[in-house]
Amino acid sequence: MLTENYDKVLGNIRSACERAGRDASEVTLIAVSKTKPESDIMELYDHGVRDFGENYIQELREKHEHLPSDIRWHMIGHLQRNKVKYIAEYVTMIHAVDTLELAKTIEKEAAKHDRVIPVLIEVNVAGEESKFGVAPEETKEFVKAVSVLPHVHVSGLMTSAPFVKNAEENRSVFEKLHELSVDINRENIDNVTMRVLSMGMTNDYNVAVEEGATLVRVGTAIFGARDYSK
Ligand SMILES: *Cc1c(COP(=O)(O)O)cnc(C)c1O
Repeated sequence: MLTENYDKVLGNIRSACERAGRDASEVTLIAVSKTKPESDIMELYDHGVRDFGENYIQELREKHEHLPSDIRWHMIGHLQRNKVKYIAEYVTMIHAVDTLELAKTIEKEAAKHDRVIPVLIEVNVAGEESKFGVAPEETKEFVKAVSVLPHVHVSGLMTSAPFVKNAEENRSVFEKLHELSVDINRENIDNVTMRVLSMGMTNDYNVAVEEGATLVRVGTAIFGARDYSK
């Protein structure tokens, strides 16, 4: 069941790439496995899936400890500074960096493990008050400030679009994030690349891919609805 869901999402991504004239190899599907059991992850692992996204540090730590070491773990949620130390050794990418304090903590913890951690800057494109993220007009300066940290590599931008009934309503959000990344890329900032655009979830990943997403974070469409009561 999970593998069929996964393949269906992959097929939709391919179709969206075709519509947009993009090469499907540009897009990586991250299976967002938060709250889901390790057996679910292993089912997809056996199907060849290696990129998984998690939001909660305790859960990520346990899964990382128990599951195969070649899984690429993406920390996609809001990250508290005091938790960075628990994942710094192995995390593949931290998707939601939006304060310099957090970036500096990642720098310190990455240095301890003698590695460079790829990060994305979370942008609050839609300007929702309830959301984390840097304001679009402040993003360029923020990227410059993070770029001086030698053990942190800014690899691109990330956003979580609003929850909407019709995914088309988020098209302008994705378009704006894409434009912002092109704009920042033109600055040729040292230690910064803008190859990654992490945008699109179950409800709107097709539109996000049409607008240039290179990482899509899909949970519900693969694993089914989440139960937070457990
Ligand atoms: C939970 C989560 C997702 C996946 O959401 P679905 O709607 O289940 O696909 C993607 N991105 C972030 C940041 C999340 O927290």
